[in-house]
Amino acid sequence: MIYIGCHLSVTNGYEAMGRTMVSFGGNTFAWFTRNPRGGKAKDIDNADVQKLQQILAEKNFGKLVAHASYTMNLCSAKPETRANALDMLKQDLQRMEMVPNQLYNFHPGSHTGQGVEIGIKQIADGLNASLWPDMHTTVLLETMAGKGSEVGKTFEELREIIDRTTLNDKLGVCLDTCHIWDGGYDIVNDLDGVLTNFDKIIGLDRLKAIHFNDSKNECGAAKDRHEKLGQGFIGMEAMKRIALHPALQNLPFILETPNDDEGYMEEIKLVNSWM
Ligand code: FE
Ligand code: FE
Ligand code: ZN
Repeated sequence: MIYIGCHLSVTNGYEAMGRTMVSFGGNTFAWFTRNPRGGKAKDIDNADVQKLQQILAEKNFGKLVAHASYTMNLCSAKPETRANALDMLKQDLQRMEMVPNQLYNFHPGSHTGQGVEIGIKQIADGLNASLWPDMHTTVLLETMAGKGSEVGKTFEELREIIDRTTLNDKLGVCLDTCHIWDGGYDIVNDLDGVLTNFDKIIGLDRLKAIHFNDSKNECGAAKDRHEKLGQGFIGMEAMKRIALHPALQNLPFILETPNDDEGYMEEIKLVNSWM
């Protein structure tokens, strides 16, 4: 089996997210640690988190997948943007300790003209300044579509970030199906080959979460436009094959498809019907 859920708003707190996901029929979820476009994070209420923990245990939830702000760019050419990203990362990881043993996913960054190598080095520098030995969160690098100057569009780039990070036992990868498809990995015709390649370069033991999205574009388009399950170029058959793939069992699958609540409920129901 896999765990299935979608992005939820943190506006009404942590318990509310747990209850909402139970009502949606899912057993994992994602949330933004702060406004995805940037801004200050709200204080976390410990009692609220305790109530969420109860729901997670009672309903056998899989790991939760927090998502960093899109504005957090550890490898911007602008030093103040990098410094700001480092602040956000440090704060977010401190805050994640209130919701221990979960996953925190971030976009590695966009090098904004500095080149991939400098980008990779700056991302690893940021991680080296932020991770600590007894932290309780696994930090996930998200596979990117390669739009603009995004770093992390190949498994090799992610591998290099991992290699340059000292405490890389704290690191994992979140595989976004739309992103790797747009990045040129043909998960429709050669899913086994792509996963074998991932295993060789990064190691499947690093794979901790899936962003489960269809794509509005063809393989290799480098566009990053998500589509509803079965309505894009990846298609329903391939999406189902991904969800049922033996190498991906027991992972949290997060829907980031263009849907309202109703649409997410339907997709969760659909995925559950496959298992
Ligand atoms: Fe993302
Ligand atoms: Fe994603
Ligand atoms: Zn995306």
